[in-house]
Amino acid sequence: MEVCKILHMNSGVGDESYAKNSLLQQKATSIAWPVIKKAIEDLCSENNNSITSLSIADLGCSSGPNTLTIISNLIKHIELHNNKPFQYQIFFNDLPSNDFNSIFISLQNFLEDLKIQIGADFGTCFFNGVPGSFYGRLFPDKSLHFVHSCYSLQWLSQVPKEMEMINKGNIFIDSTSPKNVIDGYFKQFQKDFSLFLKCRGEEVVRGGRMVVTLVGRTDEYPSNQDYCYAFTLLNLALNNMVAEGIVEEEKVDRFNIPTFMPSPKEIKEEVLKEGSFIINELKVSKIDWNFYSTELEGTKHVFVDSSYNVAKCIRSVIESLMSPHFGEAIVEELFYRYSKIVKDEMSNKRSEFTNLTISLTRI
Ligand code: SAH
Repeated sequence: MEVCKILHMNSGVGDESYAKNSLLQQKATSIAWPVIKKAIEDLCSENNNSITSLSIADLGCSSGPNTLTIISNLIKHIELHNNKPFQYQIFFNDLPSNDFNSIFISLQNFLEDLKIQIGADFGTCFFNGVPGSFYGRLFPDKSLHFVHSCYSLQWLSQVPKEMEMINKGNIFIDSTSPKNVIDGYFKQFQKDFSLFLKCRGEEVVRGGRMVVTLVGRTDEYPSNQDYCYAFTLLNLALNNMVAEGIVEEEKVDRFNIPTFMPSPKEIKEEVLKEGSFIINELKVSKIDWNFYSTELEGTKHVFVDSSYNVAKCIRSVIESLMSPHFGEAIVEELFYRYSKIVKDEMSNKRSEFTNLTISLTRI
């Protein structure tokens, strides 16, 4: 599977779009905000006299409300806390099939909103779209001051080699996955993450900052339930369809989701080994699957079916990979069943997504 050619979050602004189903990722960025804020404050205070134009890149920016919120928050924070005016070079990066058009269309409103919020005399913003994989070079040498990325780096560049047919009955690391599957995923993560660090090491100026938030795990052993329970339940829904003869078993055996959720220790080891960055902070946080209802807490008479939202969120990120393999009709039925399973599960137990936020300085 060539992840870079086919992966994209569901585009547009329809019911199944990423734009309409990315509250989880928005929560992750707001939990990470104190770390992001500290990194940009430190960058500005250390380089107050030497930088006139600040280059900021958001890697794996997707399209939707989150794409511009993080940039808006960064600019507002810098403008309100820094005496010296900057010009801003903003780079939106994602894979080429991302819906870049909808980002560009919303830039005018973005600037107008910013004017209303902080006044008209903030630094001029220059926007750029950068299509390409962050597992390769995207920018010239030493051209970036600040890199941000949220919920993107758990995606691998490819399904680990030779995974097909050995992870039987699973579409991801699960409790029945053989050890060589877990090792294969881990090796792919090590290779990808260290290449990511190497490329950014070349692109970020000395003293530049990078803050990455990704889906991770706290348990040392990856096949524990804490790993990615959302995918475990998707596996269950798919296997029910196999048992009923709706999906061929072999199709499940041949499909593997190209993501890996690392532990804090695994992340730290790669940063140390690669050597371009030092770690300022590594924060672990959790988001309850009920994130949608807690968002609306206090709002009276609103019935929120959180399970529906968890299922839709997972669908909006994974559908582009599943549809070509299983067919659209199967995927429709799969997510219908999946939302029912998620609903049952959520009424019985509490589940959480684990996030890791790592703040780095280029040395
Ligand atoms: N940062 C956004 C989007 C997260 S979704 C938010 O917080 O809402 C993850 C994004 O990472 C997707 O848009 C996906 O296309 C992108 N992505 C995955 N692998 C990538 C790669 N190798 N290079 C660039 N972008 C990638």
